[in-house]
Amino acid sequence: MKRERQADSNPFPYSDSNKRYYTYDYYLRQTYGEKCAKISLDAGLSCPNIDGTCGEGGCIYCSPAGSGDFTQGASLTIREQYERQIALMTAKWPCRFFIPYLQAHTNTYASVSRLREIYEETLSLSGAVALHIATRADCLPDDVLSLLAEVAEKIDLTVELGLQSIHDRTAQAIGRGHTYADFCRGFSDLRSASKKIRIAVHLINGLPEEDQSMMLESAVAVGELHPEQIKFHLLHVLRHTRMAALLESGRYEPMSEDAYVSTLVRQLERTPDDIVIGRVTGDGAKADLLAPLWSLKKFCVMNHLDRMLFEENTWQGKRTHSP
Ligand code: SF4
Repeated sequence: MKRERQADSNPFPYSDSNKRYYTYDYYLRQTYGEKCAKISLDAGLSCPNIDGTCGEGGCIYCSPAGSGDFTQGASLTIREQYERQIALMTAKWPCRFFIPYLQAHTNTYASVSRLREIYEETLSLSGAVALHIATRADCLPDDVLSLLAEVAEKIDLTVELGLQSIHDRTAQAIGRGHTYADFCRGFSDLRSASKKIRIAVHLINGLPEEDQSMMLESAVAVGELHPEQIKFHLLHVLRHTRMAALLESGRYEPMSEDAYVSTLVRQLERTPDDIVIGRVTGDGAKADLLAPLWSLKKFCVMNHLDRMLFEENTWQGKRTHSP
């Protein structure tokens, strides 16, 4: 007798596989007709949490590369970084469409004229079908919002906002430098700036002193804001960060794989089904990762998640209308 595959009984509407959540891969294939590759870039900008404007030393987990560990580095131009990374990637995985991603540091934190130069350079890259810009919700002044609205007329634009947690006590502990109220203001300003701008919100599970109920509250609150995309990360403790010192002193206990996957399941169940899930794990720079080491087996974690969703017969959005 033929064994039933997980995909055969998948009730989730935005999927053509066994995935019971709205993957970014599915979204890209539906939107552009084929797989696209995201190319991480470093425009050489800084961050108000690093230069002393609202903090020094950065968020407690931020790497010296400003969370842009997979770029080719700002000593190269944006075009050089883009072309080099595509050459490396397409040698293993042929691909025609690309998504430049201004990832390192805060990519709306400069004068409008400097930002215009950077965005225009990314718009001119060949094969680029969309643009992602990573920033913070407290770095969206009116003139930058107008520029983003202008860019969104020229290319599919997603602005990625690092929130990590809705809890202000956590924001203080990690040195995020702005409150949840500041985040909501920035989110709403971005929404009003242009209907064409897609918004992605980043959340991190496993932040110091957060339990599962707090992580769930963050996912529910962000689901209610209804961005187009949510990225769920696992907190990676990297060498040369303040988190590394916390780990070494024994004052931080990393999440176990079971706790992480079961938290994700509960979060996905309460996330509206039409929100794209940009990530379900983080990608730490392998050489610098101190903990949790189980996260290095990314495909095992993703399979664990698929299995648990299947075994519990649940999926993204299943509990958005019930407690
Ligand atoms: S906001 Fe981003 S770039 Fe700035 S310190 Fe925090 S993680 Fe690093």
